[in-house]
Amino acid sequence: MKIAVLSGKGGTGKTLVSVNLASVADTCSYMDCDVEEPNGNFFFKPKEVKEKKVSVCIPVFDNTKCTGCRKCVDFCKFNALAYIKDRVFIFEEVCHSCGGCVLLCPEDAVSEKKKVIGTLEAGVSEQVHVHTGTMKTGEVSGVPIIKEMLENPLTPKDAMTFIDCPPGSACIVMESIKDVDFCVLVAEPTVFGVHNLSMVYELVKLFKKPHGVILNKCMDAENPAEAYCLEHRIPILGRIPFDKELGALNSDAKIVSRESEKYHSLFSSLLQNIMKEVAQ
Ligand code: SF4
Ligand code: SF4
Repeated sequence: MKIAVLSGKGGTGKTLVSVNLASVADTCSYMDCDVEEPNGNFFFKPKEVKEKKVSVCIPVFDNTKCTGCRKCVDFCKFNALAYIKDRVFIFEEVCHSCGGCVLLCPEDAVSEKKKVIGTLEAGVSEQVHVHTGTMKTGEVSGVPIIKEMLENPLTPKDAMTFIDCPPGSACIVMESIKDVDFCVLVAEPTVFGVHNLSMVYELVKLFKKPHGVILNKCMDAENPAEAYCLEHRIPILGRIPFDKELGALNSDAKIVSRESEKYHSLFSSLLQNIMKEVAQ
């Protein structure tokens, strides 16, 4: 069972939700796919950490074989190649490692080399296997890191996995949710929160993923995100209050469900509601 937690932007409570759902579940995996800014491990503080590097293939040009036909330059949709003064130059930072230029060169002048773009770490925090993907600064795409983390994790796969997705709805989020069984959308109670919610709602509809919403930072006031859910008949899985105790624990990088009985019970009931939706 794979459950993804998404939001349209950072700071909505996506990591709060995914970390705490994993903490109240039985033995499980938590996968931090927010590879540009992973912070789940600040909460879990995993032990017995293993690490591996993630690489992609980058083309290398043999100028003794190149005839200057420019087919590779014209083909590259990412403008990663230029032909200047009788040789091909590559801008590695924008190469997406599609391999197209290697395949189409008529002179067999293009080979490949490995380039490290990030790391995967896995450790243990109580009953949770904590996986973290980190992309090197300046790299163009974290998709290969997410793919490697989800397909070849550093610890044996658990029956239950919680995926802390990158914010937004770009291809890196699509990679994170493509094989999941259920998507949890986290929404803030503002008009801007509705805009962010609508982005990820459109994405999960496109992927035909069962889904539901957790309303975060709820106050005794009108909640535009709740109104949006009612209007679109999106299941509401539960509400997390705007609460001083929660804010203080969270900003101290504490896992609220491990610190407070009240929050253990709240996140346990959220998890039960998710499982009920999955079973439907
Ligand atoms: S396709 Fe091959 S031969 Fe043509 S410019 Fe590129 S590297 Fe040179
Ligand atoms: S591998 Fe793909 S993205 Fe990279 S330079 Fe070649 S064609 Fe462009």
